[in-house]
Amino acid sequence: MGYQVSGIKFPHLKYFLKVISNLFFTSSELPPKCDSHHQQPATSHQQPTTSNQQPATSNPIPDPPFLYLYHFMRKYEDSYRHKGLRKKLIDQLRQKGITDERLLEAMNKVPRHYFLDSAFDKVAYEDRAFPIAEGQTISQPYTVAYQTQLLELKLHHKILEIGTGSGYQAIILAEMGAMVFTIERQKKLFEEHRNFILKKQYPNIKYFYGDGYEGLPTYAPFDKVIVTAAAPFIPPKLIDQLKTNGYMVIPVGEGIVQRMIRITKLGDGSIHEEDFDNFSFVPMVSGRNS
Ligand code: SAH
Repeated sequence: MGYQVSGIKFPHLKYFLKVISNLFFTSSELPPKCDSHHQQPATSHQQPTTSNQQPATSNPIPDPPFLYLYHFMRKYEDSYRHKGLRKKLIDQLRQKGITDERLLEAMNKVPRHYFLDSAFDKVAYEDRAFPIAEGQTISQPYTVAYQTQLLELKLHHKILEIGTGSGYQAIILAEMGAMVFTIERQKKLFEEHRNFILKKQYPNIKYFYGDGYEGLPTYAPFDKVIVTAAAPFIPPKLIDQLKTNGYMVIPVGEGIVQRMIRITKLGDGSIHEEDFDNFSFVPMVSGRNS
């Protein structure tokens, strides 16, 4: 027998309610999504993370028509427990060699669990990458800290980020007082930021849907460029858009592991390269994905 709601007959109301509740509440019932390129540093001072340590859930952020509802219905709470876990994470980052106090302060302030599905609430402050929508990842906190430290950020620096993803890295840069221009090629990830709870707190971030290989010529030049996906080569247009003496921090390589490279653009337009540790990122892919 069907159900009658406001004069409309719903023969499958139960099914309809289940689909809606799946969208919003029961991420663990969704099928696991394979995410083989977790960001995990392969440096000697890092604990290697094996793939079975990753939760077998994907981030069930719904498609655009439901996104507003999703953010509206989700309860965002930064409890004493979260704050305590965050402080522990900051201590771990210090022990792993992160010394930039302004950066550690920013990471201590920004609630990382807001960027993940609530299913990850208990593990959000472990130093690990986690899946977000579209098979992508939120970077491991150590990776965020490592790349940001290499940028040597100054107040009001104009930064170009390639690979917005969850938006966490962009918000850390903004919290440190930078003006951030961030590009994402996945439409769904880009759309998520429209109603994200922290968006209004950071008017110094501009979000773009586009191909990071192209950069943002209209807003160039940038003091610094940070690429948060693995680039098979150094994108020439991003060098063009960098100021003289500016840095670009970019993981370069086509395999599972890439080298973290810092590029300085010299006065004559040539570049100087410094080579740092091994990391593992999702690939930087050309073109936009709708
Ligand atoms: N900075 C992110 C990490 C995201 S993972 C965070 O803090 O969560 C890398 C992101 O780069 C993914 O979202 C992926 O879709 C995006 N990406 C890959 N290739 C890209 C390209 N050519 N242009 C823009 N974004 C790209």
